[in-house]
Amino acid sequence: TPALEIRGLKKTYKNGFEALKGIDLEVAPGSFFALLGPNGAGKSTTIGIITSLINKTAGTVKVFGHDVDTDLQAVKRSIGLVPQEFNFNNFEPIGEIVVNQAGYYGIPRREAWKRCEHYLKELGLWEKRKDMARTLSGGMKRRLMIARALVHEPRLLILDEPTAGVDIELRRSMWDFLTRINTDGRSIILTTHYLEEAETLCRNIAIIDDGAIIENTTMKQLLAKL
Ligand code: ADP
Ligand code: ADP
Repeated sequence: TPALEIRGLKKTYKNGFEALKGIDLEVAPGSFFALLGPNGAGKSTTIGIITSLINKTAGTVKVFGHDVDTDLQAVKRSIGLVPQEFNFNNFEPIGEIVVNQAGYYGIPRREAWKRCEHYLKELGLWEKRKDMARTLSGGMKRRLMIARALVHEPRLLILDEPTAGVDIELRRSMWDFLTRINTDGRSIILTTHYLEEAETLCRNIAIIDDGAIIENTTMKQLLAKL
C-alpha cells in the first residue's frame, strides 16, 4: 500500500476560489517526497486535507490504505504533521509540549518522556527541556515542532515549508536529521518552494502550480530535463 494515495482531489473555498482542480498523487512507502510549487499553488491546502484540517470538495485521500473519510483515527495515528506556523503554547516548557502531545495518543507518561528525551537529544534541544517555548530561537522552535510530530512514531512525517526562515547552517543540520529518519524507514513528504531543498533531500517530486500537478517524476529525471 502507498504511504499516500490521492485521486481526483478538488477544493473550492467558500469564497468560490478553486484551490485544487482535481489532483492525483501517489507516494510509495519509505519515500522522501517533495511537493514543490510557488506560493499560492495549493500545497498547504493539500496538506490540510490529508491531515483533515480542511474539508475537501471532491476526491479520495488514503494514508497507508486508510481513507480519511472512513478511517480518520488510523490516518491521524499514521501521520506526524509539522505545520508552517508555530502553534504550541509559548508559556509551556518544551519537554512538556512534547510529552503532552504523546498523551493525546494515549502514550503513558514514562514512555512519553523516554521518547521526548530521544527526539530532543537528536534535535539538540534536550538541555532546554525546562525552558519555555517562547525563549527559543526560530530554528529551535522549528525543531521542537519536529520532535512533537514524531513522538507518537508516525509512519509518515509531513512538513509544510520546514526550513522557511531558517538560516543555511541550521537548514543543513535539519536536512541531515530528516535524511536519517527517512533512512530508518519513515516516509516523508515535504512542501517547499526551494528547488535546492527538494533536490538535496528528495528522490521523488511532484510540482504543483495553480491547483494542478504539472509534473510527477523522480528528481533525477526532472534535473535531466532542466
Ligand atoms: P472552508 O471552505 O474549508 O470551510 P473557509 O473558506 O471557511 O474554509 O476559510 C477557512 C479560513 O481561512 C478562514 O478563517 C478564512 O479567514 C481563512 N482564509 C480566507 N481566505 C484566505 C486566503 N486567501 N488565504 C489563506 N487563508 C484564508
Ligand atoms: P501554498 O501552500 O502553495 O502557498 P495554499 O494552499 O495556501 O498555497 O493556497 C492556495 C490558494 O488558495 C491561494 O491562492 C490562497 O490564497 C487560497 N486560499 C487558501 N486558503 C483559503 C481560504 N480559506 N479561502 C479562500 N482562499 C484560500
